[in-house]
Parts: sequence; structure tokens; C-alpha cells
Amino acid sequence: AAQRQTVDFQAEVRQVLDLVIHSLYSNKEIFLRELVSNASDACDRLRFEALGDEALYEGDTELAIRIDVDRKARTLTVTDNGIGMSREEVLENLGTIARSGTRRFLERLSGDQARDASLIGQFGVGFYSAFIVADKVTVLTRRAGLGPEHGVRWESDGEGSFTVENIERPERGTQVILHLRKGEGEFLDPERLRAIVRKYSDHIAFPIRMQAAGGDGYETVNRASALWRRPRKEISEDEYKAFYRHVAHDFDEPLAWVHSRVEGRHQYTLLLYVPRRAPFDLWDRQQRRGLKLYVRRVYITDEAERLLPAYLRFVRGVVDSDDLPLNVSREMLQEDRRLGVIRNAAIKRVLDLLERMAEKEPEKYAQFWREFGAVLKEGVIEDAANRERIAALARFASSATEGEAQTVSLDAYIERMRPGQDAIYYLTAESLAAARSSPHLEIFRRRGVEVLLLADRVDEWFVAHLPEYKGKRLRNVAQGEIDPAALGGEEAAREETASTGALEEALAKRLREALEGRVRAVRASRRLVESPACLVTDEGEISVSFGRLLKQLGR
Ligand code: ADP
Ligand code: MG
Repeated sequence: AAQRQTVDFQAEVRQVLDLVIHSLYSNKEIFLRELVSNASDACDRLRFEALGDEALYEGDTELAIRIDVDRKARTLTVTDNGIGMSREEVLENLGTIARSGTRRFLERLSGDQARDASLIGQFGVGFYSAFIVADKVTVLTRRAGLGPEHGVRWESDGEGSFTVENIERPERGTQVILHLRKGEGEFLDPERLRAIVRKYSDHIAFPIRMQAAGGDGYETVNRASALWRRPRKEISEDEYKAFYRHVAHDFDEPLAWVHSRVEGRHQYTLLLYVPRRAPFDLWDRQQRRGLKLYVRRVYITDEAERLLPAYLRFVRGVVDSDDLPLNVSREMLQEDRRLGVIRNAAIKRVLDLLERMAEKEPEKYAQFWREFGAVLKEGVIEDAANRERIAALARFASSATEGEAQTVSLDAYIERMRPGQDAIYYLTAESLAAARSSPHLEIFRRRGVEVLLLADRVDEWFVAHLPEYKGKRLRNVAQGEIDPAALGGEEAAREETASTGALEEALAKRLREALEGRVRAVRASRRLVESPACLVTDEGEISVSFGRLLKQLGR
């Protein structure tokens, strides 16, 4: 039974569709890049699944992508002989958006086209971009390994619903047919299409074929070789950028990348990118599909969690190993030591890249830090072996800077320390504004001693894992006794001798009685200049702000 059914798009899909059509119109040719990218992913996945089950090839091992036009019917068709989709997969992939946090992301949209267009880049719209130029899209597909009667036809005008029905389909793989809107005739012009393919999809590792000009058979339009396997100096910036958009599913350009081939006992290639903008689900620590693992050019998985630690989950790219067996299993990915070697190399390359950027291109680094700083800081907690390197990359707001920007490194702080100052001082708070107006800063301000102001969630853990840096202790100004003498500077001696008077002692006593059982002690102190009182915890104890944070998290 064909079982034709009409299904409403999930609400999120309708919103994304609307957004894509309206905000990306000025860049409409990218729809072809997205469809070719999907076709290439589908070929990758077939090749991988066929490693374990040769029969999936159904006798046709020549994986390729085809682009055809029909001027009379005004259709543009992208065909692949990749993995294809079952009916369930069609319903799931072409009707819903499964990424967690999608709704929250969409709520942030403003209706301002330019802004939304750049936001949608973080999202990666893919398939739905077909509706920029088409008023009807038909997908014919059959999953490799299922019989011809398991073909599926999906069709939609991109308005609110789609239809699915089973069809007979001898060919495995997927065919996407775009019925072009009025005025989009340029996409029926083979020359125009060739130019678009060369511009965006030259790096695709499978051949992209189009009817030859003379009408005699198909010719390959792209270079059709794995970009990361080519020598660095033969790859142009534009090629690196185009490849990034494909692997990262990002509309934007990358911020930076590093490409290296490692020869030796283990041989492998790394091509790692740092994106320009954080994806909307960066905080979803489960969302770790940034790196694709290949073995000798064959795609294996994008779920090899061990390839990168969580604090580098923003990195995108490709790892291609010469040594791992092709039939590498999930369990092996957990245990194989070669993967550990690659992981350490990847960490090193990324940290090298960031250090170089921080030194040579501070503005670019500032952009990186704005987007990913709070994630990188997790590294101090997660990666003991690289703790000092990561700490050196960290940037903070401080009492010596203004505004929200985190620009002060620990090294810059140390350089500015006053003679005689014994520690790196910091204050944690729920917000930067709260930190800036804290009474704990008064004595430090007065003495001209800089205090780092930490208001990111991860900061409490960061300082808990970094007791010292380059031999200097990190000290919370809201904890324990602050000995004014240890702050350095000239006023030290004078203030040191000014003892607290009997009046203060009497006041402290009354407060102690009034707050009985709620505070451990009330002390007259020289650390305040303008405020009458502040809360202090003992050293080694959880700070007031950390206590609040843990409460919020329900711990
Ligand atoms: P993405 O590529 O980022 O996953 P897309 O919107 O481009 O998102 O595609 C959505 C999903 O639809 C893909 O993840 C894939 O599962 C499926 N899909 C799209 N095109 C194809 C195709 N040509 N062959 C097989 N599956 C496809
Ligand atoms: Mg895609």
C-alpha cells in the first residue's frame, strides 16, 4: 500500500523555513551547496555502512552526485547514490528539527533580516534552503539495502505541510527535485550551475557530474579529491573556507584553522577549524559532533567523543588516520591508544593555534574569546596536563578595565603587580556589575591593587582548580583575612599601625549578638573604606557567590 499521508511540519520547521526563505534570499545560490553537501554526506555514510555489509552497494560502488536540469519542466535535480532514507527517516529528517534548544534559538530572532541571516548561520539550515528558489520540492529516495518497494516520495510547497508515500524505486539513494519559482530561471543555466559548483563545492570528495555541453554523456565538474589530503601550499584560502562550510554545517567563514600531516609511528592528517561564532547549542555538552573521523579517506563517524575533550567542543574539522582499521568499532574508538595519540596532537595543535593568534592577532583573539572563552576555561578543570597553557590563554575583566570585555591575561596581571604584592587577587560574583560595586574592592582600589572580576559560571570551578599560576597564589578577596601589608605599596606601613578602636569592638560585639547562629564571627576590619560591612568566608571554604551558584544548580 502506498499509504499516502499529509503531515504538518513541526512548528520549528515552519519558522526555520520562513526565516531561510526571507533572510537568505540575497545569497540564494547557496541552496545548491547545501544539497550537494547532503548528497556527499549520504555517500560518506553509505561507504561507511558498506564496510560492514558489502551488499549495501547493490553492485554499484561508484559513488557520485549528479546535477540535471529540465528547461521545459523548469526543474533542477540533485541525485546521489548514497545511503538514502527509509520512510521513518524521511519523516524525521525532512519534517522535524531534532536539535535541543531550537525553540529558544528561534525565540531570539528579531525579524531584522540582516541580523537573522547571521543567526541562521549558527543554526545551519541545510535542506530547507531549497525553498529559497523552489515553490515545490520533491524528494525520491530509497535506503540502501531495502527492496525497491521501500522507495519513498516526499513533497512539499514549503508552506505548512508535506506529503509522504511509498513508491517503487529501483535506484538506491536520493533525488531532490526543485520546481523553480518564477524568476529563478538562472538556475536552469548549466554554465551558471557549473560556476556555483566550482565556487562552493569543488572540495567535495565525490565526483559531481553534469551533462557535457555537447550533449554526449556526463562530465565531472569538481576536483573530487579529499581536500585535507592535498599539500597545504596547494590549497587556497577560499578552498579552506568552502570546505569549512561543508564540514561545520556553518554559513559563516571560519575564524582560523590549522592543517597538518603527521608522519611517524602513527600517521594521520588533522584539519581543524575555529568557527567565528558560537553555535546556539554550544552549552549542550552532549552536542559533540564537530570532528569527523576518517580512515584513509573513508568517513567513519562524527561521534568519536574521544577525539577532543569537551572544552574544545567548538572545534570543527577532520581527522584522517592512516593506521586505524577500516572496520573500527565503537568499542575500539573507546579504547584504541592511537586515538589517544591523535587526541593529544589535536589538543596541542588547537592550543598552538590559539597562542599564536593571541600573540599575533589580538583582535581576532578577542573575538574568539568573546565567543568561546567560557568554554575554553573548562579546560583548566578538565585537562590537568595543559592547565597552565589554558590558564595563560584565559582573559578576564578586572578592576583596572572598564565595561564587559574580558581582556586581562594572568601574565598581564602579574606584570602590573605592585612591589611587595604577594598574590593574584580576584573576586567572583554573579554578575560583573555586582563585582564592580562590591565593598570587597575598596581597600584594593585605595591601594591601587588590581583585582580580577570573575562572573562567568565556570569561574568558581576555574579558580578552584587553579590555586596558583607561575608561582603566584590566586586569592579570593572575599575570603579570609586580607593583610593590608601584603598588598604592597607605600601606604602599607601607615595603615598597618592604625589599630581598630574600642568603639568598633563594641559595635562588633553587638552585631555578634544580633546575628547569633547566623555568622561565625564579626570582626572589625581595615579592609573597608566606604561601606560599613561586608560578608567574608574563611579561606578553603566555599565562597558566598559559589554557595549561591551551587544552590541555584540544586546541589
Ligand atoms: P544537516 O545536513 O546539517 O544534518 P540538512 O537540513 O541539510 O541538515 O539535512 C537534514 C537531514 O536530512 C540530514 O541530516 C540527513 O539525515 C537527511 N538528508 C538530507 N539530504 C539527504 C540525502 N541526499 N541523502 C540522505 N539523507 C539526506
Ligand atoms: Mg546538510
